[in-house]
Amino acid sequence: MADIIAARDSVTLMAGYHSPQLDVKVRLNTNESPVGPPPGFADDVAQAVRSIEWNRYPDRRATALRRAIAELHGVDPGRVFAANGSNEVLQTLLLTYGGPGRTAAMFEPTYALHSHLSRITGTGVAQGERHPDFSLDLAEVERVISRDGPSVVFLCSPNNPTGLADDCADVEAVLALTVDVGALLCVDEAYAQFAPWSALDLIGPDVPLVVTRTYSKTWAMAGARLGYMIGPEWVVTELEKVVLPYHLDSMTQIAGTLALRHLDAMERRVAVLVAERERLTDRMSRLPVHVWRSGANFVLFRPDRMPGDDVWQALVDRSVLVRNCASWPRLDGCLRVTIGTPEEDDLFLQALKEVLT
Ligand SMILES: *Cc1c(COP(=O)(O)O)cnc(C)c1O
Repeated sequence: MADIIAARDSVTLMAGYHSPQLDVKVRLNTNESPVGPPPGFADDVAQAVRSIEWNRYPDRRATALRRAIAELHGVDPGRVFAANGSNEVLQTLLLTYGGPGRTAAMFEPTYALHSHLSRITGTGVAQGERHPDFSLDLAEVERVISRDGPSVVFLCSPNNPTGLADDCADVEAVLALTVDVGALLCVDEAYAQFAPWSALDLIGPDVPLVVTRTYSKTWAMAGARLGYMIGPEWVVTELEKVVLPYHLDSMTQIAGTLALRHLDAMERRVAVLVAERERLTDRMSRLPVHVWRSGANFVLFRPDRMPGDDVWQALVDRSVLVRNCASWPRLDGCLRVTIGTPEEDDLFLQALKEVLT
């Protein structure tokens, strides 16, 4: 019998990016919202779903959804591209502007999907380093960009998994370097609502900058798979040529459009989570761990005296699941906890205290 066909080299080399979905009482591992969307949202969606023409393909241009997103950000709908999660936006961006013979640059540690999706799409990967405190090292950014001549440069602010929001001046400097080599800068803002500023302030019709957002975190809609990008119209036009036809189904388009009617409720939730994040950070800093200040809805920490893997397992044994980053490059021994409800966070704190003392 002939050998069974193997997957492409770039795929077989890949371990994937998955947090285990364990059955535990307190799930603080994937930065979801601890509570569902506002009351009324599900009823509105159920009502609207009844009028879907199920025999027809969805609106290919997602007109209503894009209009609603555009209105939220005060831009023209032609500058909005929506997809199944911001991960699909990133993948489409790389299929369009990356690919064989091209390179994407990113500065580690950062969101693992930026390098992962680059490899999946056959794009070369240029990984630069951040400073030890996880802030951007502009000299390193300049070195990597001039050495590797990337087509796409990624930033993530607030950064996952560190929680650090980049300085506006640093992002502007990276944008200038990106412009110099004729590349495209993508700022992944999955957590922007928790941060003091947004790179949306820097976008413009002729600026090679795109900003990606998601419904998965702030909008409490990880179950729907919806994300989007705001950028120049000429980028949106190219992405639409690449993405699969009718990729965004009617239900997702409806859910995303109706969610934006609950902006006030969403902003109140963000304020609650930010206050809870500060409380959790303060309480954790009294334990034998190093805690990094966060501009997102999660906190990175490193136990002082115990291996991260052991702490992670001991928390699982107490039915508390956090993200284990202990073996990730540059994050030796670190764990990441998502901000939950005050009750969930107290259970986490109690379990962590038991494990560490
Ligand atoms: C969670 C997350 C996303 C969201 O991905 P979706 O596909 O929209 O769920 C994107 N970027 C970062 C940095 C994230 O942490």
